[in-house]
Amino acid sequence: MPDYQTIKKELEGIAIEDNPALVRQKSRDFYWYSPILKAQLDNVTADLVVTPKNEQEVIQTLKVAFAHGVPVTPRGAGTGNYGQAMPLSGGIVLNLAAMDRIKEIHPGRVVCEPGIVIAQLDKQTKAHSGQELRFHPSTAQTATVGGFVAGGSGGVGSITWGGLRDLGNILRLRVVTMEAEPRVLDLTGWDLQKVSHAYGTNGIITEIEMPLAPAYDWVDVLVGHDDFMASVRFSDALAKCNGILVKEIAPIAAPIPHDYFTRHRPYIRKGQSVVVLMIAPHSMDAFLAFSAAHKGEIIFRSDTVESMKGIPHAYELAWNHTTLRALKVDPGFTYLQVQYPGPDHVAKVAKMVEIFGDEVPGHLEFIRFDGQIQCSGLPLVRYSTEERLEEIIKIHQDHGCPIFNPHRYTLEEGGMKRTDKVQLAFKQETDPRGLLNPGKMIAWENPDFDFNAGKNYLFPGLASVM
Ligand code: FAD
Repeated sequence: MPDYQTIKKELEGIAIEDNPALVRQKSRDFYWYSPILKAQLDNVTADLVVTPKNEQEVIQTLKVAFAHGVPVTPRGAGTGNYGQAMPLSGGIVLNLAAMDRIKEIHPGRVVCEPGIVIAQLDKQTKAHSGQELRFHPSTAQTATVGGFVAGGSGGVGSITWGGLRDLGNILRLRVVTMEAEPRVLDLTGWDLQKVSHAYGTNGIITEIEMPLAPAYDWVDVLVGHDDFMASVRFSDALAKCNGILVKEIAPIAAPIPHDYFTRHRPYIRKGQSVVVLMIAPHSMDAFLAFSAAHKGEIIFRSDTVESMKGIPHAYELAWNHTTLRALKVDPGFTYLQVQYPGPDHVAKVAKMVEIFGDEVPGHLEFIRFDGQIQCSGLPLVRYSTEERLEEIIKIHQDHGCPIFNPHRYTLEEGGMKRTDKVQLAFKQETDPRGLLNPGKMIAWENPDFDFNAGKNYLFPGLASVM
């Protein structure tokens, strides 16, 4: 057991929390979305939460943690879904929430600290010069920019801009290493892929430069159809309509909209599938013309509704908020993350709908992927057993629809089931003792792990909390 009294002395002047209930609170994320992760990670907790105010305090914390061999797990707002921010070996949770300043705003870009909440950043850049982030997760009201870059993938706006993996969607990251004398590195270009979506396993991000786009007073629109595939075809046609500026296109199958979008329920008929949309105000006339031609019934518009009081943003019906809204009413649901590679993505979706019906109610997100319009999906799943969930995953994969498994806490198993050699090599350089967010990168813990053996990786460090 590390000597936490000495550690606290060595971190004097930096905000530290050691009350077990509060430490436990800051050791959680939205892992409970998955019944499998809930069982595996429920008892995980850190020993201390350290909240640095600036980069110097991050450096001091990492230096002390390195000297004592204490694991450090970074945390933004803890809205990740796969236990990414959960300290599987205990130790320190490094809470970046107090590093929340915007440093510079320029035409087309912003420089900020990692802990700023995304909606706050957008508010400030909009007030400054009518700009906003190109895209954000549906958790914009709570999630941090640093957590999005280190743990997220894309979101509201990805229909125009693609995802975080695309060159140019992150401009620069400043990263502190976990060494006896921590170094500060500036990464740009391809080097950004070393730490973006690496769950903080190979460096602590202390400064972020992100590109900006023009900000609009986006109009929230819901379009209703009696059949989910009609919603999907409407969405596909709209996504390919070059002139209409949209920020979000998400077709969602009945019964989800009526049964779980409780604040919008007065506008939605039972049995109606819905497309959730955000349209630029100056594109509304063109959109109305498109809808009339494509037989979309407009059932809700934020620019004409009497009052928006109590009605959430449209984007808070989409992405993983769809899952959240269903789970709030019926905890028997879980979900999957599916890719439907084009150009026959609509046919692939139709096949899955035909096979699974109401066991897997559909939810798609239209996005730009490698320059093409495609859709990914976050379908709900009426959970019965782990075996059936695995079967559903296999059937998707057998039909050419890869699954990014949200029921796994490792980078590899949640992604493409292979080692990311770039991120591993960077970890060898920046975290030689393997103290940053242990257990999340299989390649580091167990280079011989066989992804084809059909077994899931179980991090030995979890044994201490089981
Ligand atoms: P956290 O959960 O705190 O951290 C995420 C990861 O980043 C962790 O591994 C953590 O260790 C690491 N990390 C945090 N800060 C740093 C840092 N400064 N340096 C290094 N590593 C760091 N994700 C999407 O991509 N798109 C969506 O639309 C989306 N919608 C969601 C909707 C709901 C309802 C929920 C619950 C989740 C959703 N997510 C989505 C997942 C999650 O919200 C996003 O990934 C979010 O951006 C995470 O931000 P956070 O501040 O909460 O990060």
